[in-house]
Amino acid sequence: MSENGSKTIELPGSITVRDLAQRMAASPIQIIKILMSNGVMANINQLIDFDTASIVASEMGFETKSEEYEIAEEKEIGEVPFWRQLIAREDPARLVDRAPVVTILGHVDHGKTTLLDAIRHTNVASGEAGGITQHIGAYQVELKGRMITFLDTPGHAAFTAMRSRGAQGADIVILVVAANDGVMPQTREAIAHAKAARVPIIVAMNKIDRPDANPDFTKKQLSENGLTPDDWDGDTMVVPVSAKLKQGIEDLLEAILLVSDNIDIKANPDGKVFGNVIEAKVERAKGVVATMLVYNGTLEPGDIIVAGRAFGRIRAMFDFRGRKLKKAGPSTPVQIMGLNEVPSAGDIFLKYATEREARAVIEERALKSQQRAAAVPKATLEELFAKVQSGEAQELRLIIKADVQGSLEPIVSSLNELDQSDIKISILHAETGNISESDIMLATASHAIAVGFNVQADAAARRMAETEGVSIRLYNIIYRLTEDIEKAMKGLLEPEIIETTVGTGVVLATFKISKVGAIAGCRVTSGEFRRNAKVRLTREGTIIFEGEFSSLKHEKEDVREVRNGFECGAGFRNFNDFAVGDQIECYVLERSSS
Ligand code: GDP
Repeated sequence: MSENGSKTIELPGSITVRDLAQRMAASPIQIIKILMSNGVMANINQLIDFDTASIVASEMGFETKSEEYEIAEEKEIGEVPFWRQLIAREDPARLVDRAPVVTILGHVDHGKTTLLDAIRHTNVASGEAGGITQHIGAYQVELKGRMITFLDTPGHAAFTAMRSRGAQGADIVILVVAANDGVMPQTREAIAHAKAARVPIIVAMNKIDRPDANPDFTKKQLSENGLTPDDWDGDTMVVPVSAKLKQGIEDLLEAILLVSDNIDIKANPDGKVFGNVIEAKVERAKGVVATMLVYNGTLEPGDIIVAGRAFGRIRAMFDFRGRKLKKAGPSTPVQIMGLNEVPSAGDIFLKYATEREARAVIEERALKSQQRAAAVPKATLEELFAKVQSGEAQELRLIIKADVQGSLEPIVSSLNELDQSDIKISILHAETGNISESDIMLATASHAIAVGFNVQADAAARRMAETEGVSIRLYNIIYRLTEDIEKAMKGLLEPEIIETTVGTGVVLATFKISKVGAIAGCRVTSGEFRRNAKVRLTREGTIIFEGEFSSLKHEKEDVREVRNGFECGAGFRNFNDFAVGDQIECYVLERSSS
């Protein structure tokens, strides 16, 4: 209740008439009438925006509060992380202690990975040491009956984006500094990130076993960088460890608990359910698998969540050991299945009451990003080159798709590091997964190039790219990718290889012929198969094979081509694994003249 006695409800950025009625325990008809009296004709399933809903609510004696969580996306380094702001909105009386969330930062080769492994192996709850073979991006250890949650993503920690995110998502930063090497550039950067996120730092002074370790020199350097050790009358705990020999690990964990006791690490387990996406990917048998860290509330299977542009009902939930979980409270990392798309690492996830609400949130986000995309001025690649040559500064717009989040981050950061004084790079969209039709739509609308790293372009995407004149570029080495983009920025890009599909077909039967190998009995379903063209075999949307024919026969005759509607026997070079239902695509590669 607010001061003047009116009731308060929280509303999302947009809501259907039906849901608004439900939230005020009113009849939808009543809402529709109020809308009409305000000149808005709406049906029960129509989405109305926050302002409109607020007018209706106020006429019914409600005050409204925005449930908008979008601001999270635009937050700047240096601000209080968004999830902390959300916890601060919880009822203080309901807050209880939660396990500290810890991230390990430091210069490359100073021992972050080794330290994470040492902690994992020495202190995971009794009897299970060594039992955790899977890395899901986070794990928990126990010391003296208290839990500590570790973010386990140091593999990519060489990249700025990850470092800043790690610090943002944690309660405590462990700064690994090798005692033989001292404070290095990435050590300083890590300190800056931790300070920006206002997260306390504990120093793990590593490699103390090395004969060339120089603890005093390292401490002096730390002091010069604002981290005066506590045994030098400062307030930074510096714990000597050897990750390699697993020495000092327990001291480090104790230091974490000590520091946690001095800061507020709380959440409301019964409050609003939200957290962060740590890692996410598509697995063939399971669909989208995402590791989430719950910050507040309690997540359960069956819950409907929205994370970035993805949503879904949680089908199954596992802990970091791969065991099924029924409930996950604050600071618990979980792996979940059931999202419809791959969210980005760092996305906030939120639970919604109904699938309808979740869909409305997603639709609104999609709309907003479309509007953003539509707002960008148009320019084709050719125009771009011409403008670069004539000296007019322009923008190179990119849509980037990569196999895993871990490759996306370094690609984005290294692109951002390119010299952008003449021409700016603008990344409209960066996500995991194959290049899809919707990526090409976005590229078409905004005259962007679609860039893939360790992924393929779907057949539909390739077709659309062909008709719309969108460039698709595929890479498997980051360096090549950045090099090409750099060339494009200078207008020096070489003609690309264009793929043209000449025919498609389907496998109807499979045979094994001794000395020859597997043969697929196929029907050509469009265009034609050409003996000297390339072939690609896909199964349930996944590319299984790419290569050449080893044989192509029509009724026992070797043939050069088989046309639409005809059946044929096909063998592929170095491939024996045909299955009925496999899709075959026959294509040629040509150099484009543009
Ligand atoms: P990261 O790049 O920070 O993740 O560093 P790694 O964990 O990969 O370690 C880099 C190298 O240092 C590896 O060869 C490790 O075996 C070694 N290393 C890590 N911790 C220690 C340690 O405590 N003592 C010694 N002598 N070597 C270590």
